Amino acid sequence: MVGILCKGRKLNMKFNKKLENIKTYEAGKPIELVVREFGIAAKDIVKLASNENPYGCAPKVQEAVSKIVANMALYPDDSMMKLKLALTNRFDIAEENLIIGSGSDQVIEFIMHAKASASSKILINSVTFAMYEIYAKHIGAEIVRTSSQEHDLNEFYELYKSEKPDVIFLCTPNNPTGDAIDAKAMMDFISKIDEDTLVVVDGAYMEYAAFKDEKKAVSPKDLIKEFNNVIYLGTFSKAYGLGGMRVGYGISSPKIIKELYKLRPPFNITTLSLEAASVAVLEQEFVNECISLCFSEMKRYEEFATKQKIDIIESYTNFVTLCLNKNHNSTQISDALLRQGMIVRDLSGYGMNALRVTVGTPEQNSRFFELTAELL
Ligand SMILES: *Cc1c(COP(=O)(O)O)cnc(C)c1O
Repeated sequence: MVGILCKGRKLNMKFNKKLENIKTYEAGKPIELVVREFGIAAKDIVKLASNENPYGCAPKVQEAVSKIVANMALYPDDSMMKLKLALTNRFDIAEENLIIGSGSDQVIEFIMHAKASASSKILINSVTFAMYEIYAKHIGAEIVRTSSQEHDLNEFYELYKSEKPDVIFLCTPNNPTGDAIDAKAMMDFISKIDEDTLVVVDGAYMEYAAFKDEKKAVSPKDLIKEFNNVIYLGTFSKAYGLGGMRVGYGISSPKIIKELYKLRPPFNITTLSLEAASVAVLEQEFVNECISLCFSEMKRYEEFATKQKIDIIESYTNFVTLCLNKNHNSTQISDALLRQGMIVRDLSGYGMNALRVTVGTPEQNSRFFELTAELL
């Protein structure tokens, strides 16, 4: 490998001041880097760090994508007709209620640019998806956090009244803790929020929560029927097994969708991704089988935690959060696991002495139990 190439002198260039305090988002460590750093063969590496579906996507999705790989010269269908039709049918909504992003991440970015300015406040849960803060900082907006680890809607309401945020993020089920908000309580909360405050309901793991407990199931249609100032976010990266395709969506009132569209770059979804997601929506049976397997494997994590005397947060997602006790350090444990080819998420950056572990296949989970038991 060559060394870093740059001209000897230090670059004397000033950048946008808003970027000064942003920590670059650290995605789950890619398998490719573990191969390079530790010399472990890719086949011996288990990645349980980014909450992907370990069973991948439905076979029909792969078939459909392989049929169109010959047609990559033309730009994608920028009207996204096929995917929009599939999603409007799925959720019983209109096309005017829908925007597609390169991952729901991109929709979060649009939301921030559309609604926030440098004088805005953005209200989020104390521990939650890191990208809300990063996109807020792009704008120069101020982040206001609750103090409780789980979404406490009373505290959200108090902070809403005192801080007057422009955007409120509710992540349910929440990443990286896995707990979920009661759907009815959430609807009550939103009904008390004024129309000029945008409430974002991030349902990246909603398929899991809805499967496990209908009280946690939030319907995007109900949300937008009740409220004009709400946007629901969904993604194909988790339950649908298409993390590599980068497709997510926002469902909201036409006025909000129209504003977000002004920020959308042309052709933001590739031809292959559009095809994959359109077919994946129709394969609900496959998705449900994967979710069912996930929850039966999750029982093994609960047993493991009991046996090892560590706390596990009840999860409505495809990952578990293991809270270590004082004798153990989550950074050391995750580093030691990494050296053996097991990639999990250390939550020390969130102020927690905890590991977030994606529920994998039975073999992957067994490997995790084996390696972690040795370290605890
Ligand atoms: C994974 C995730 C997303 C976004 O995923 P994309 O791959 O960008 O669609 C959004 N919110 C939460 C809470 C997530 O965990």
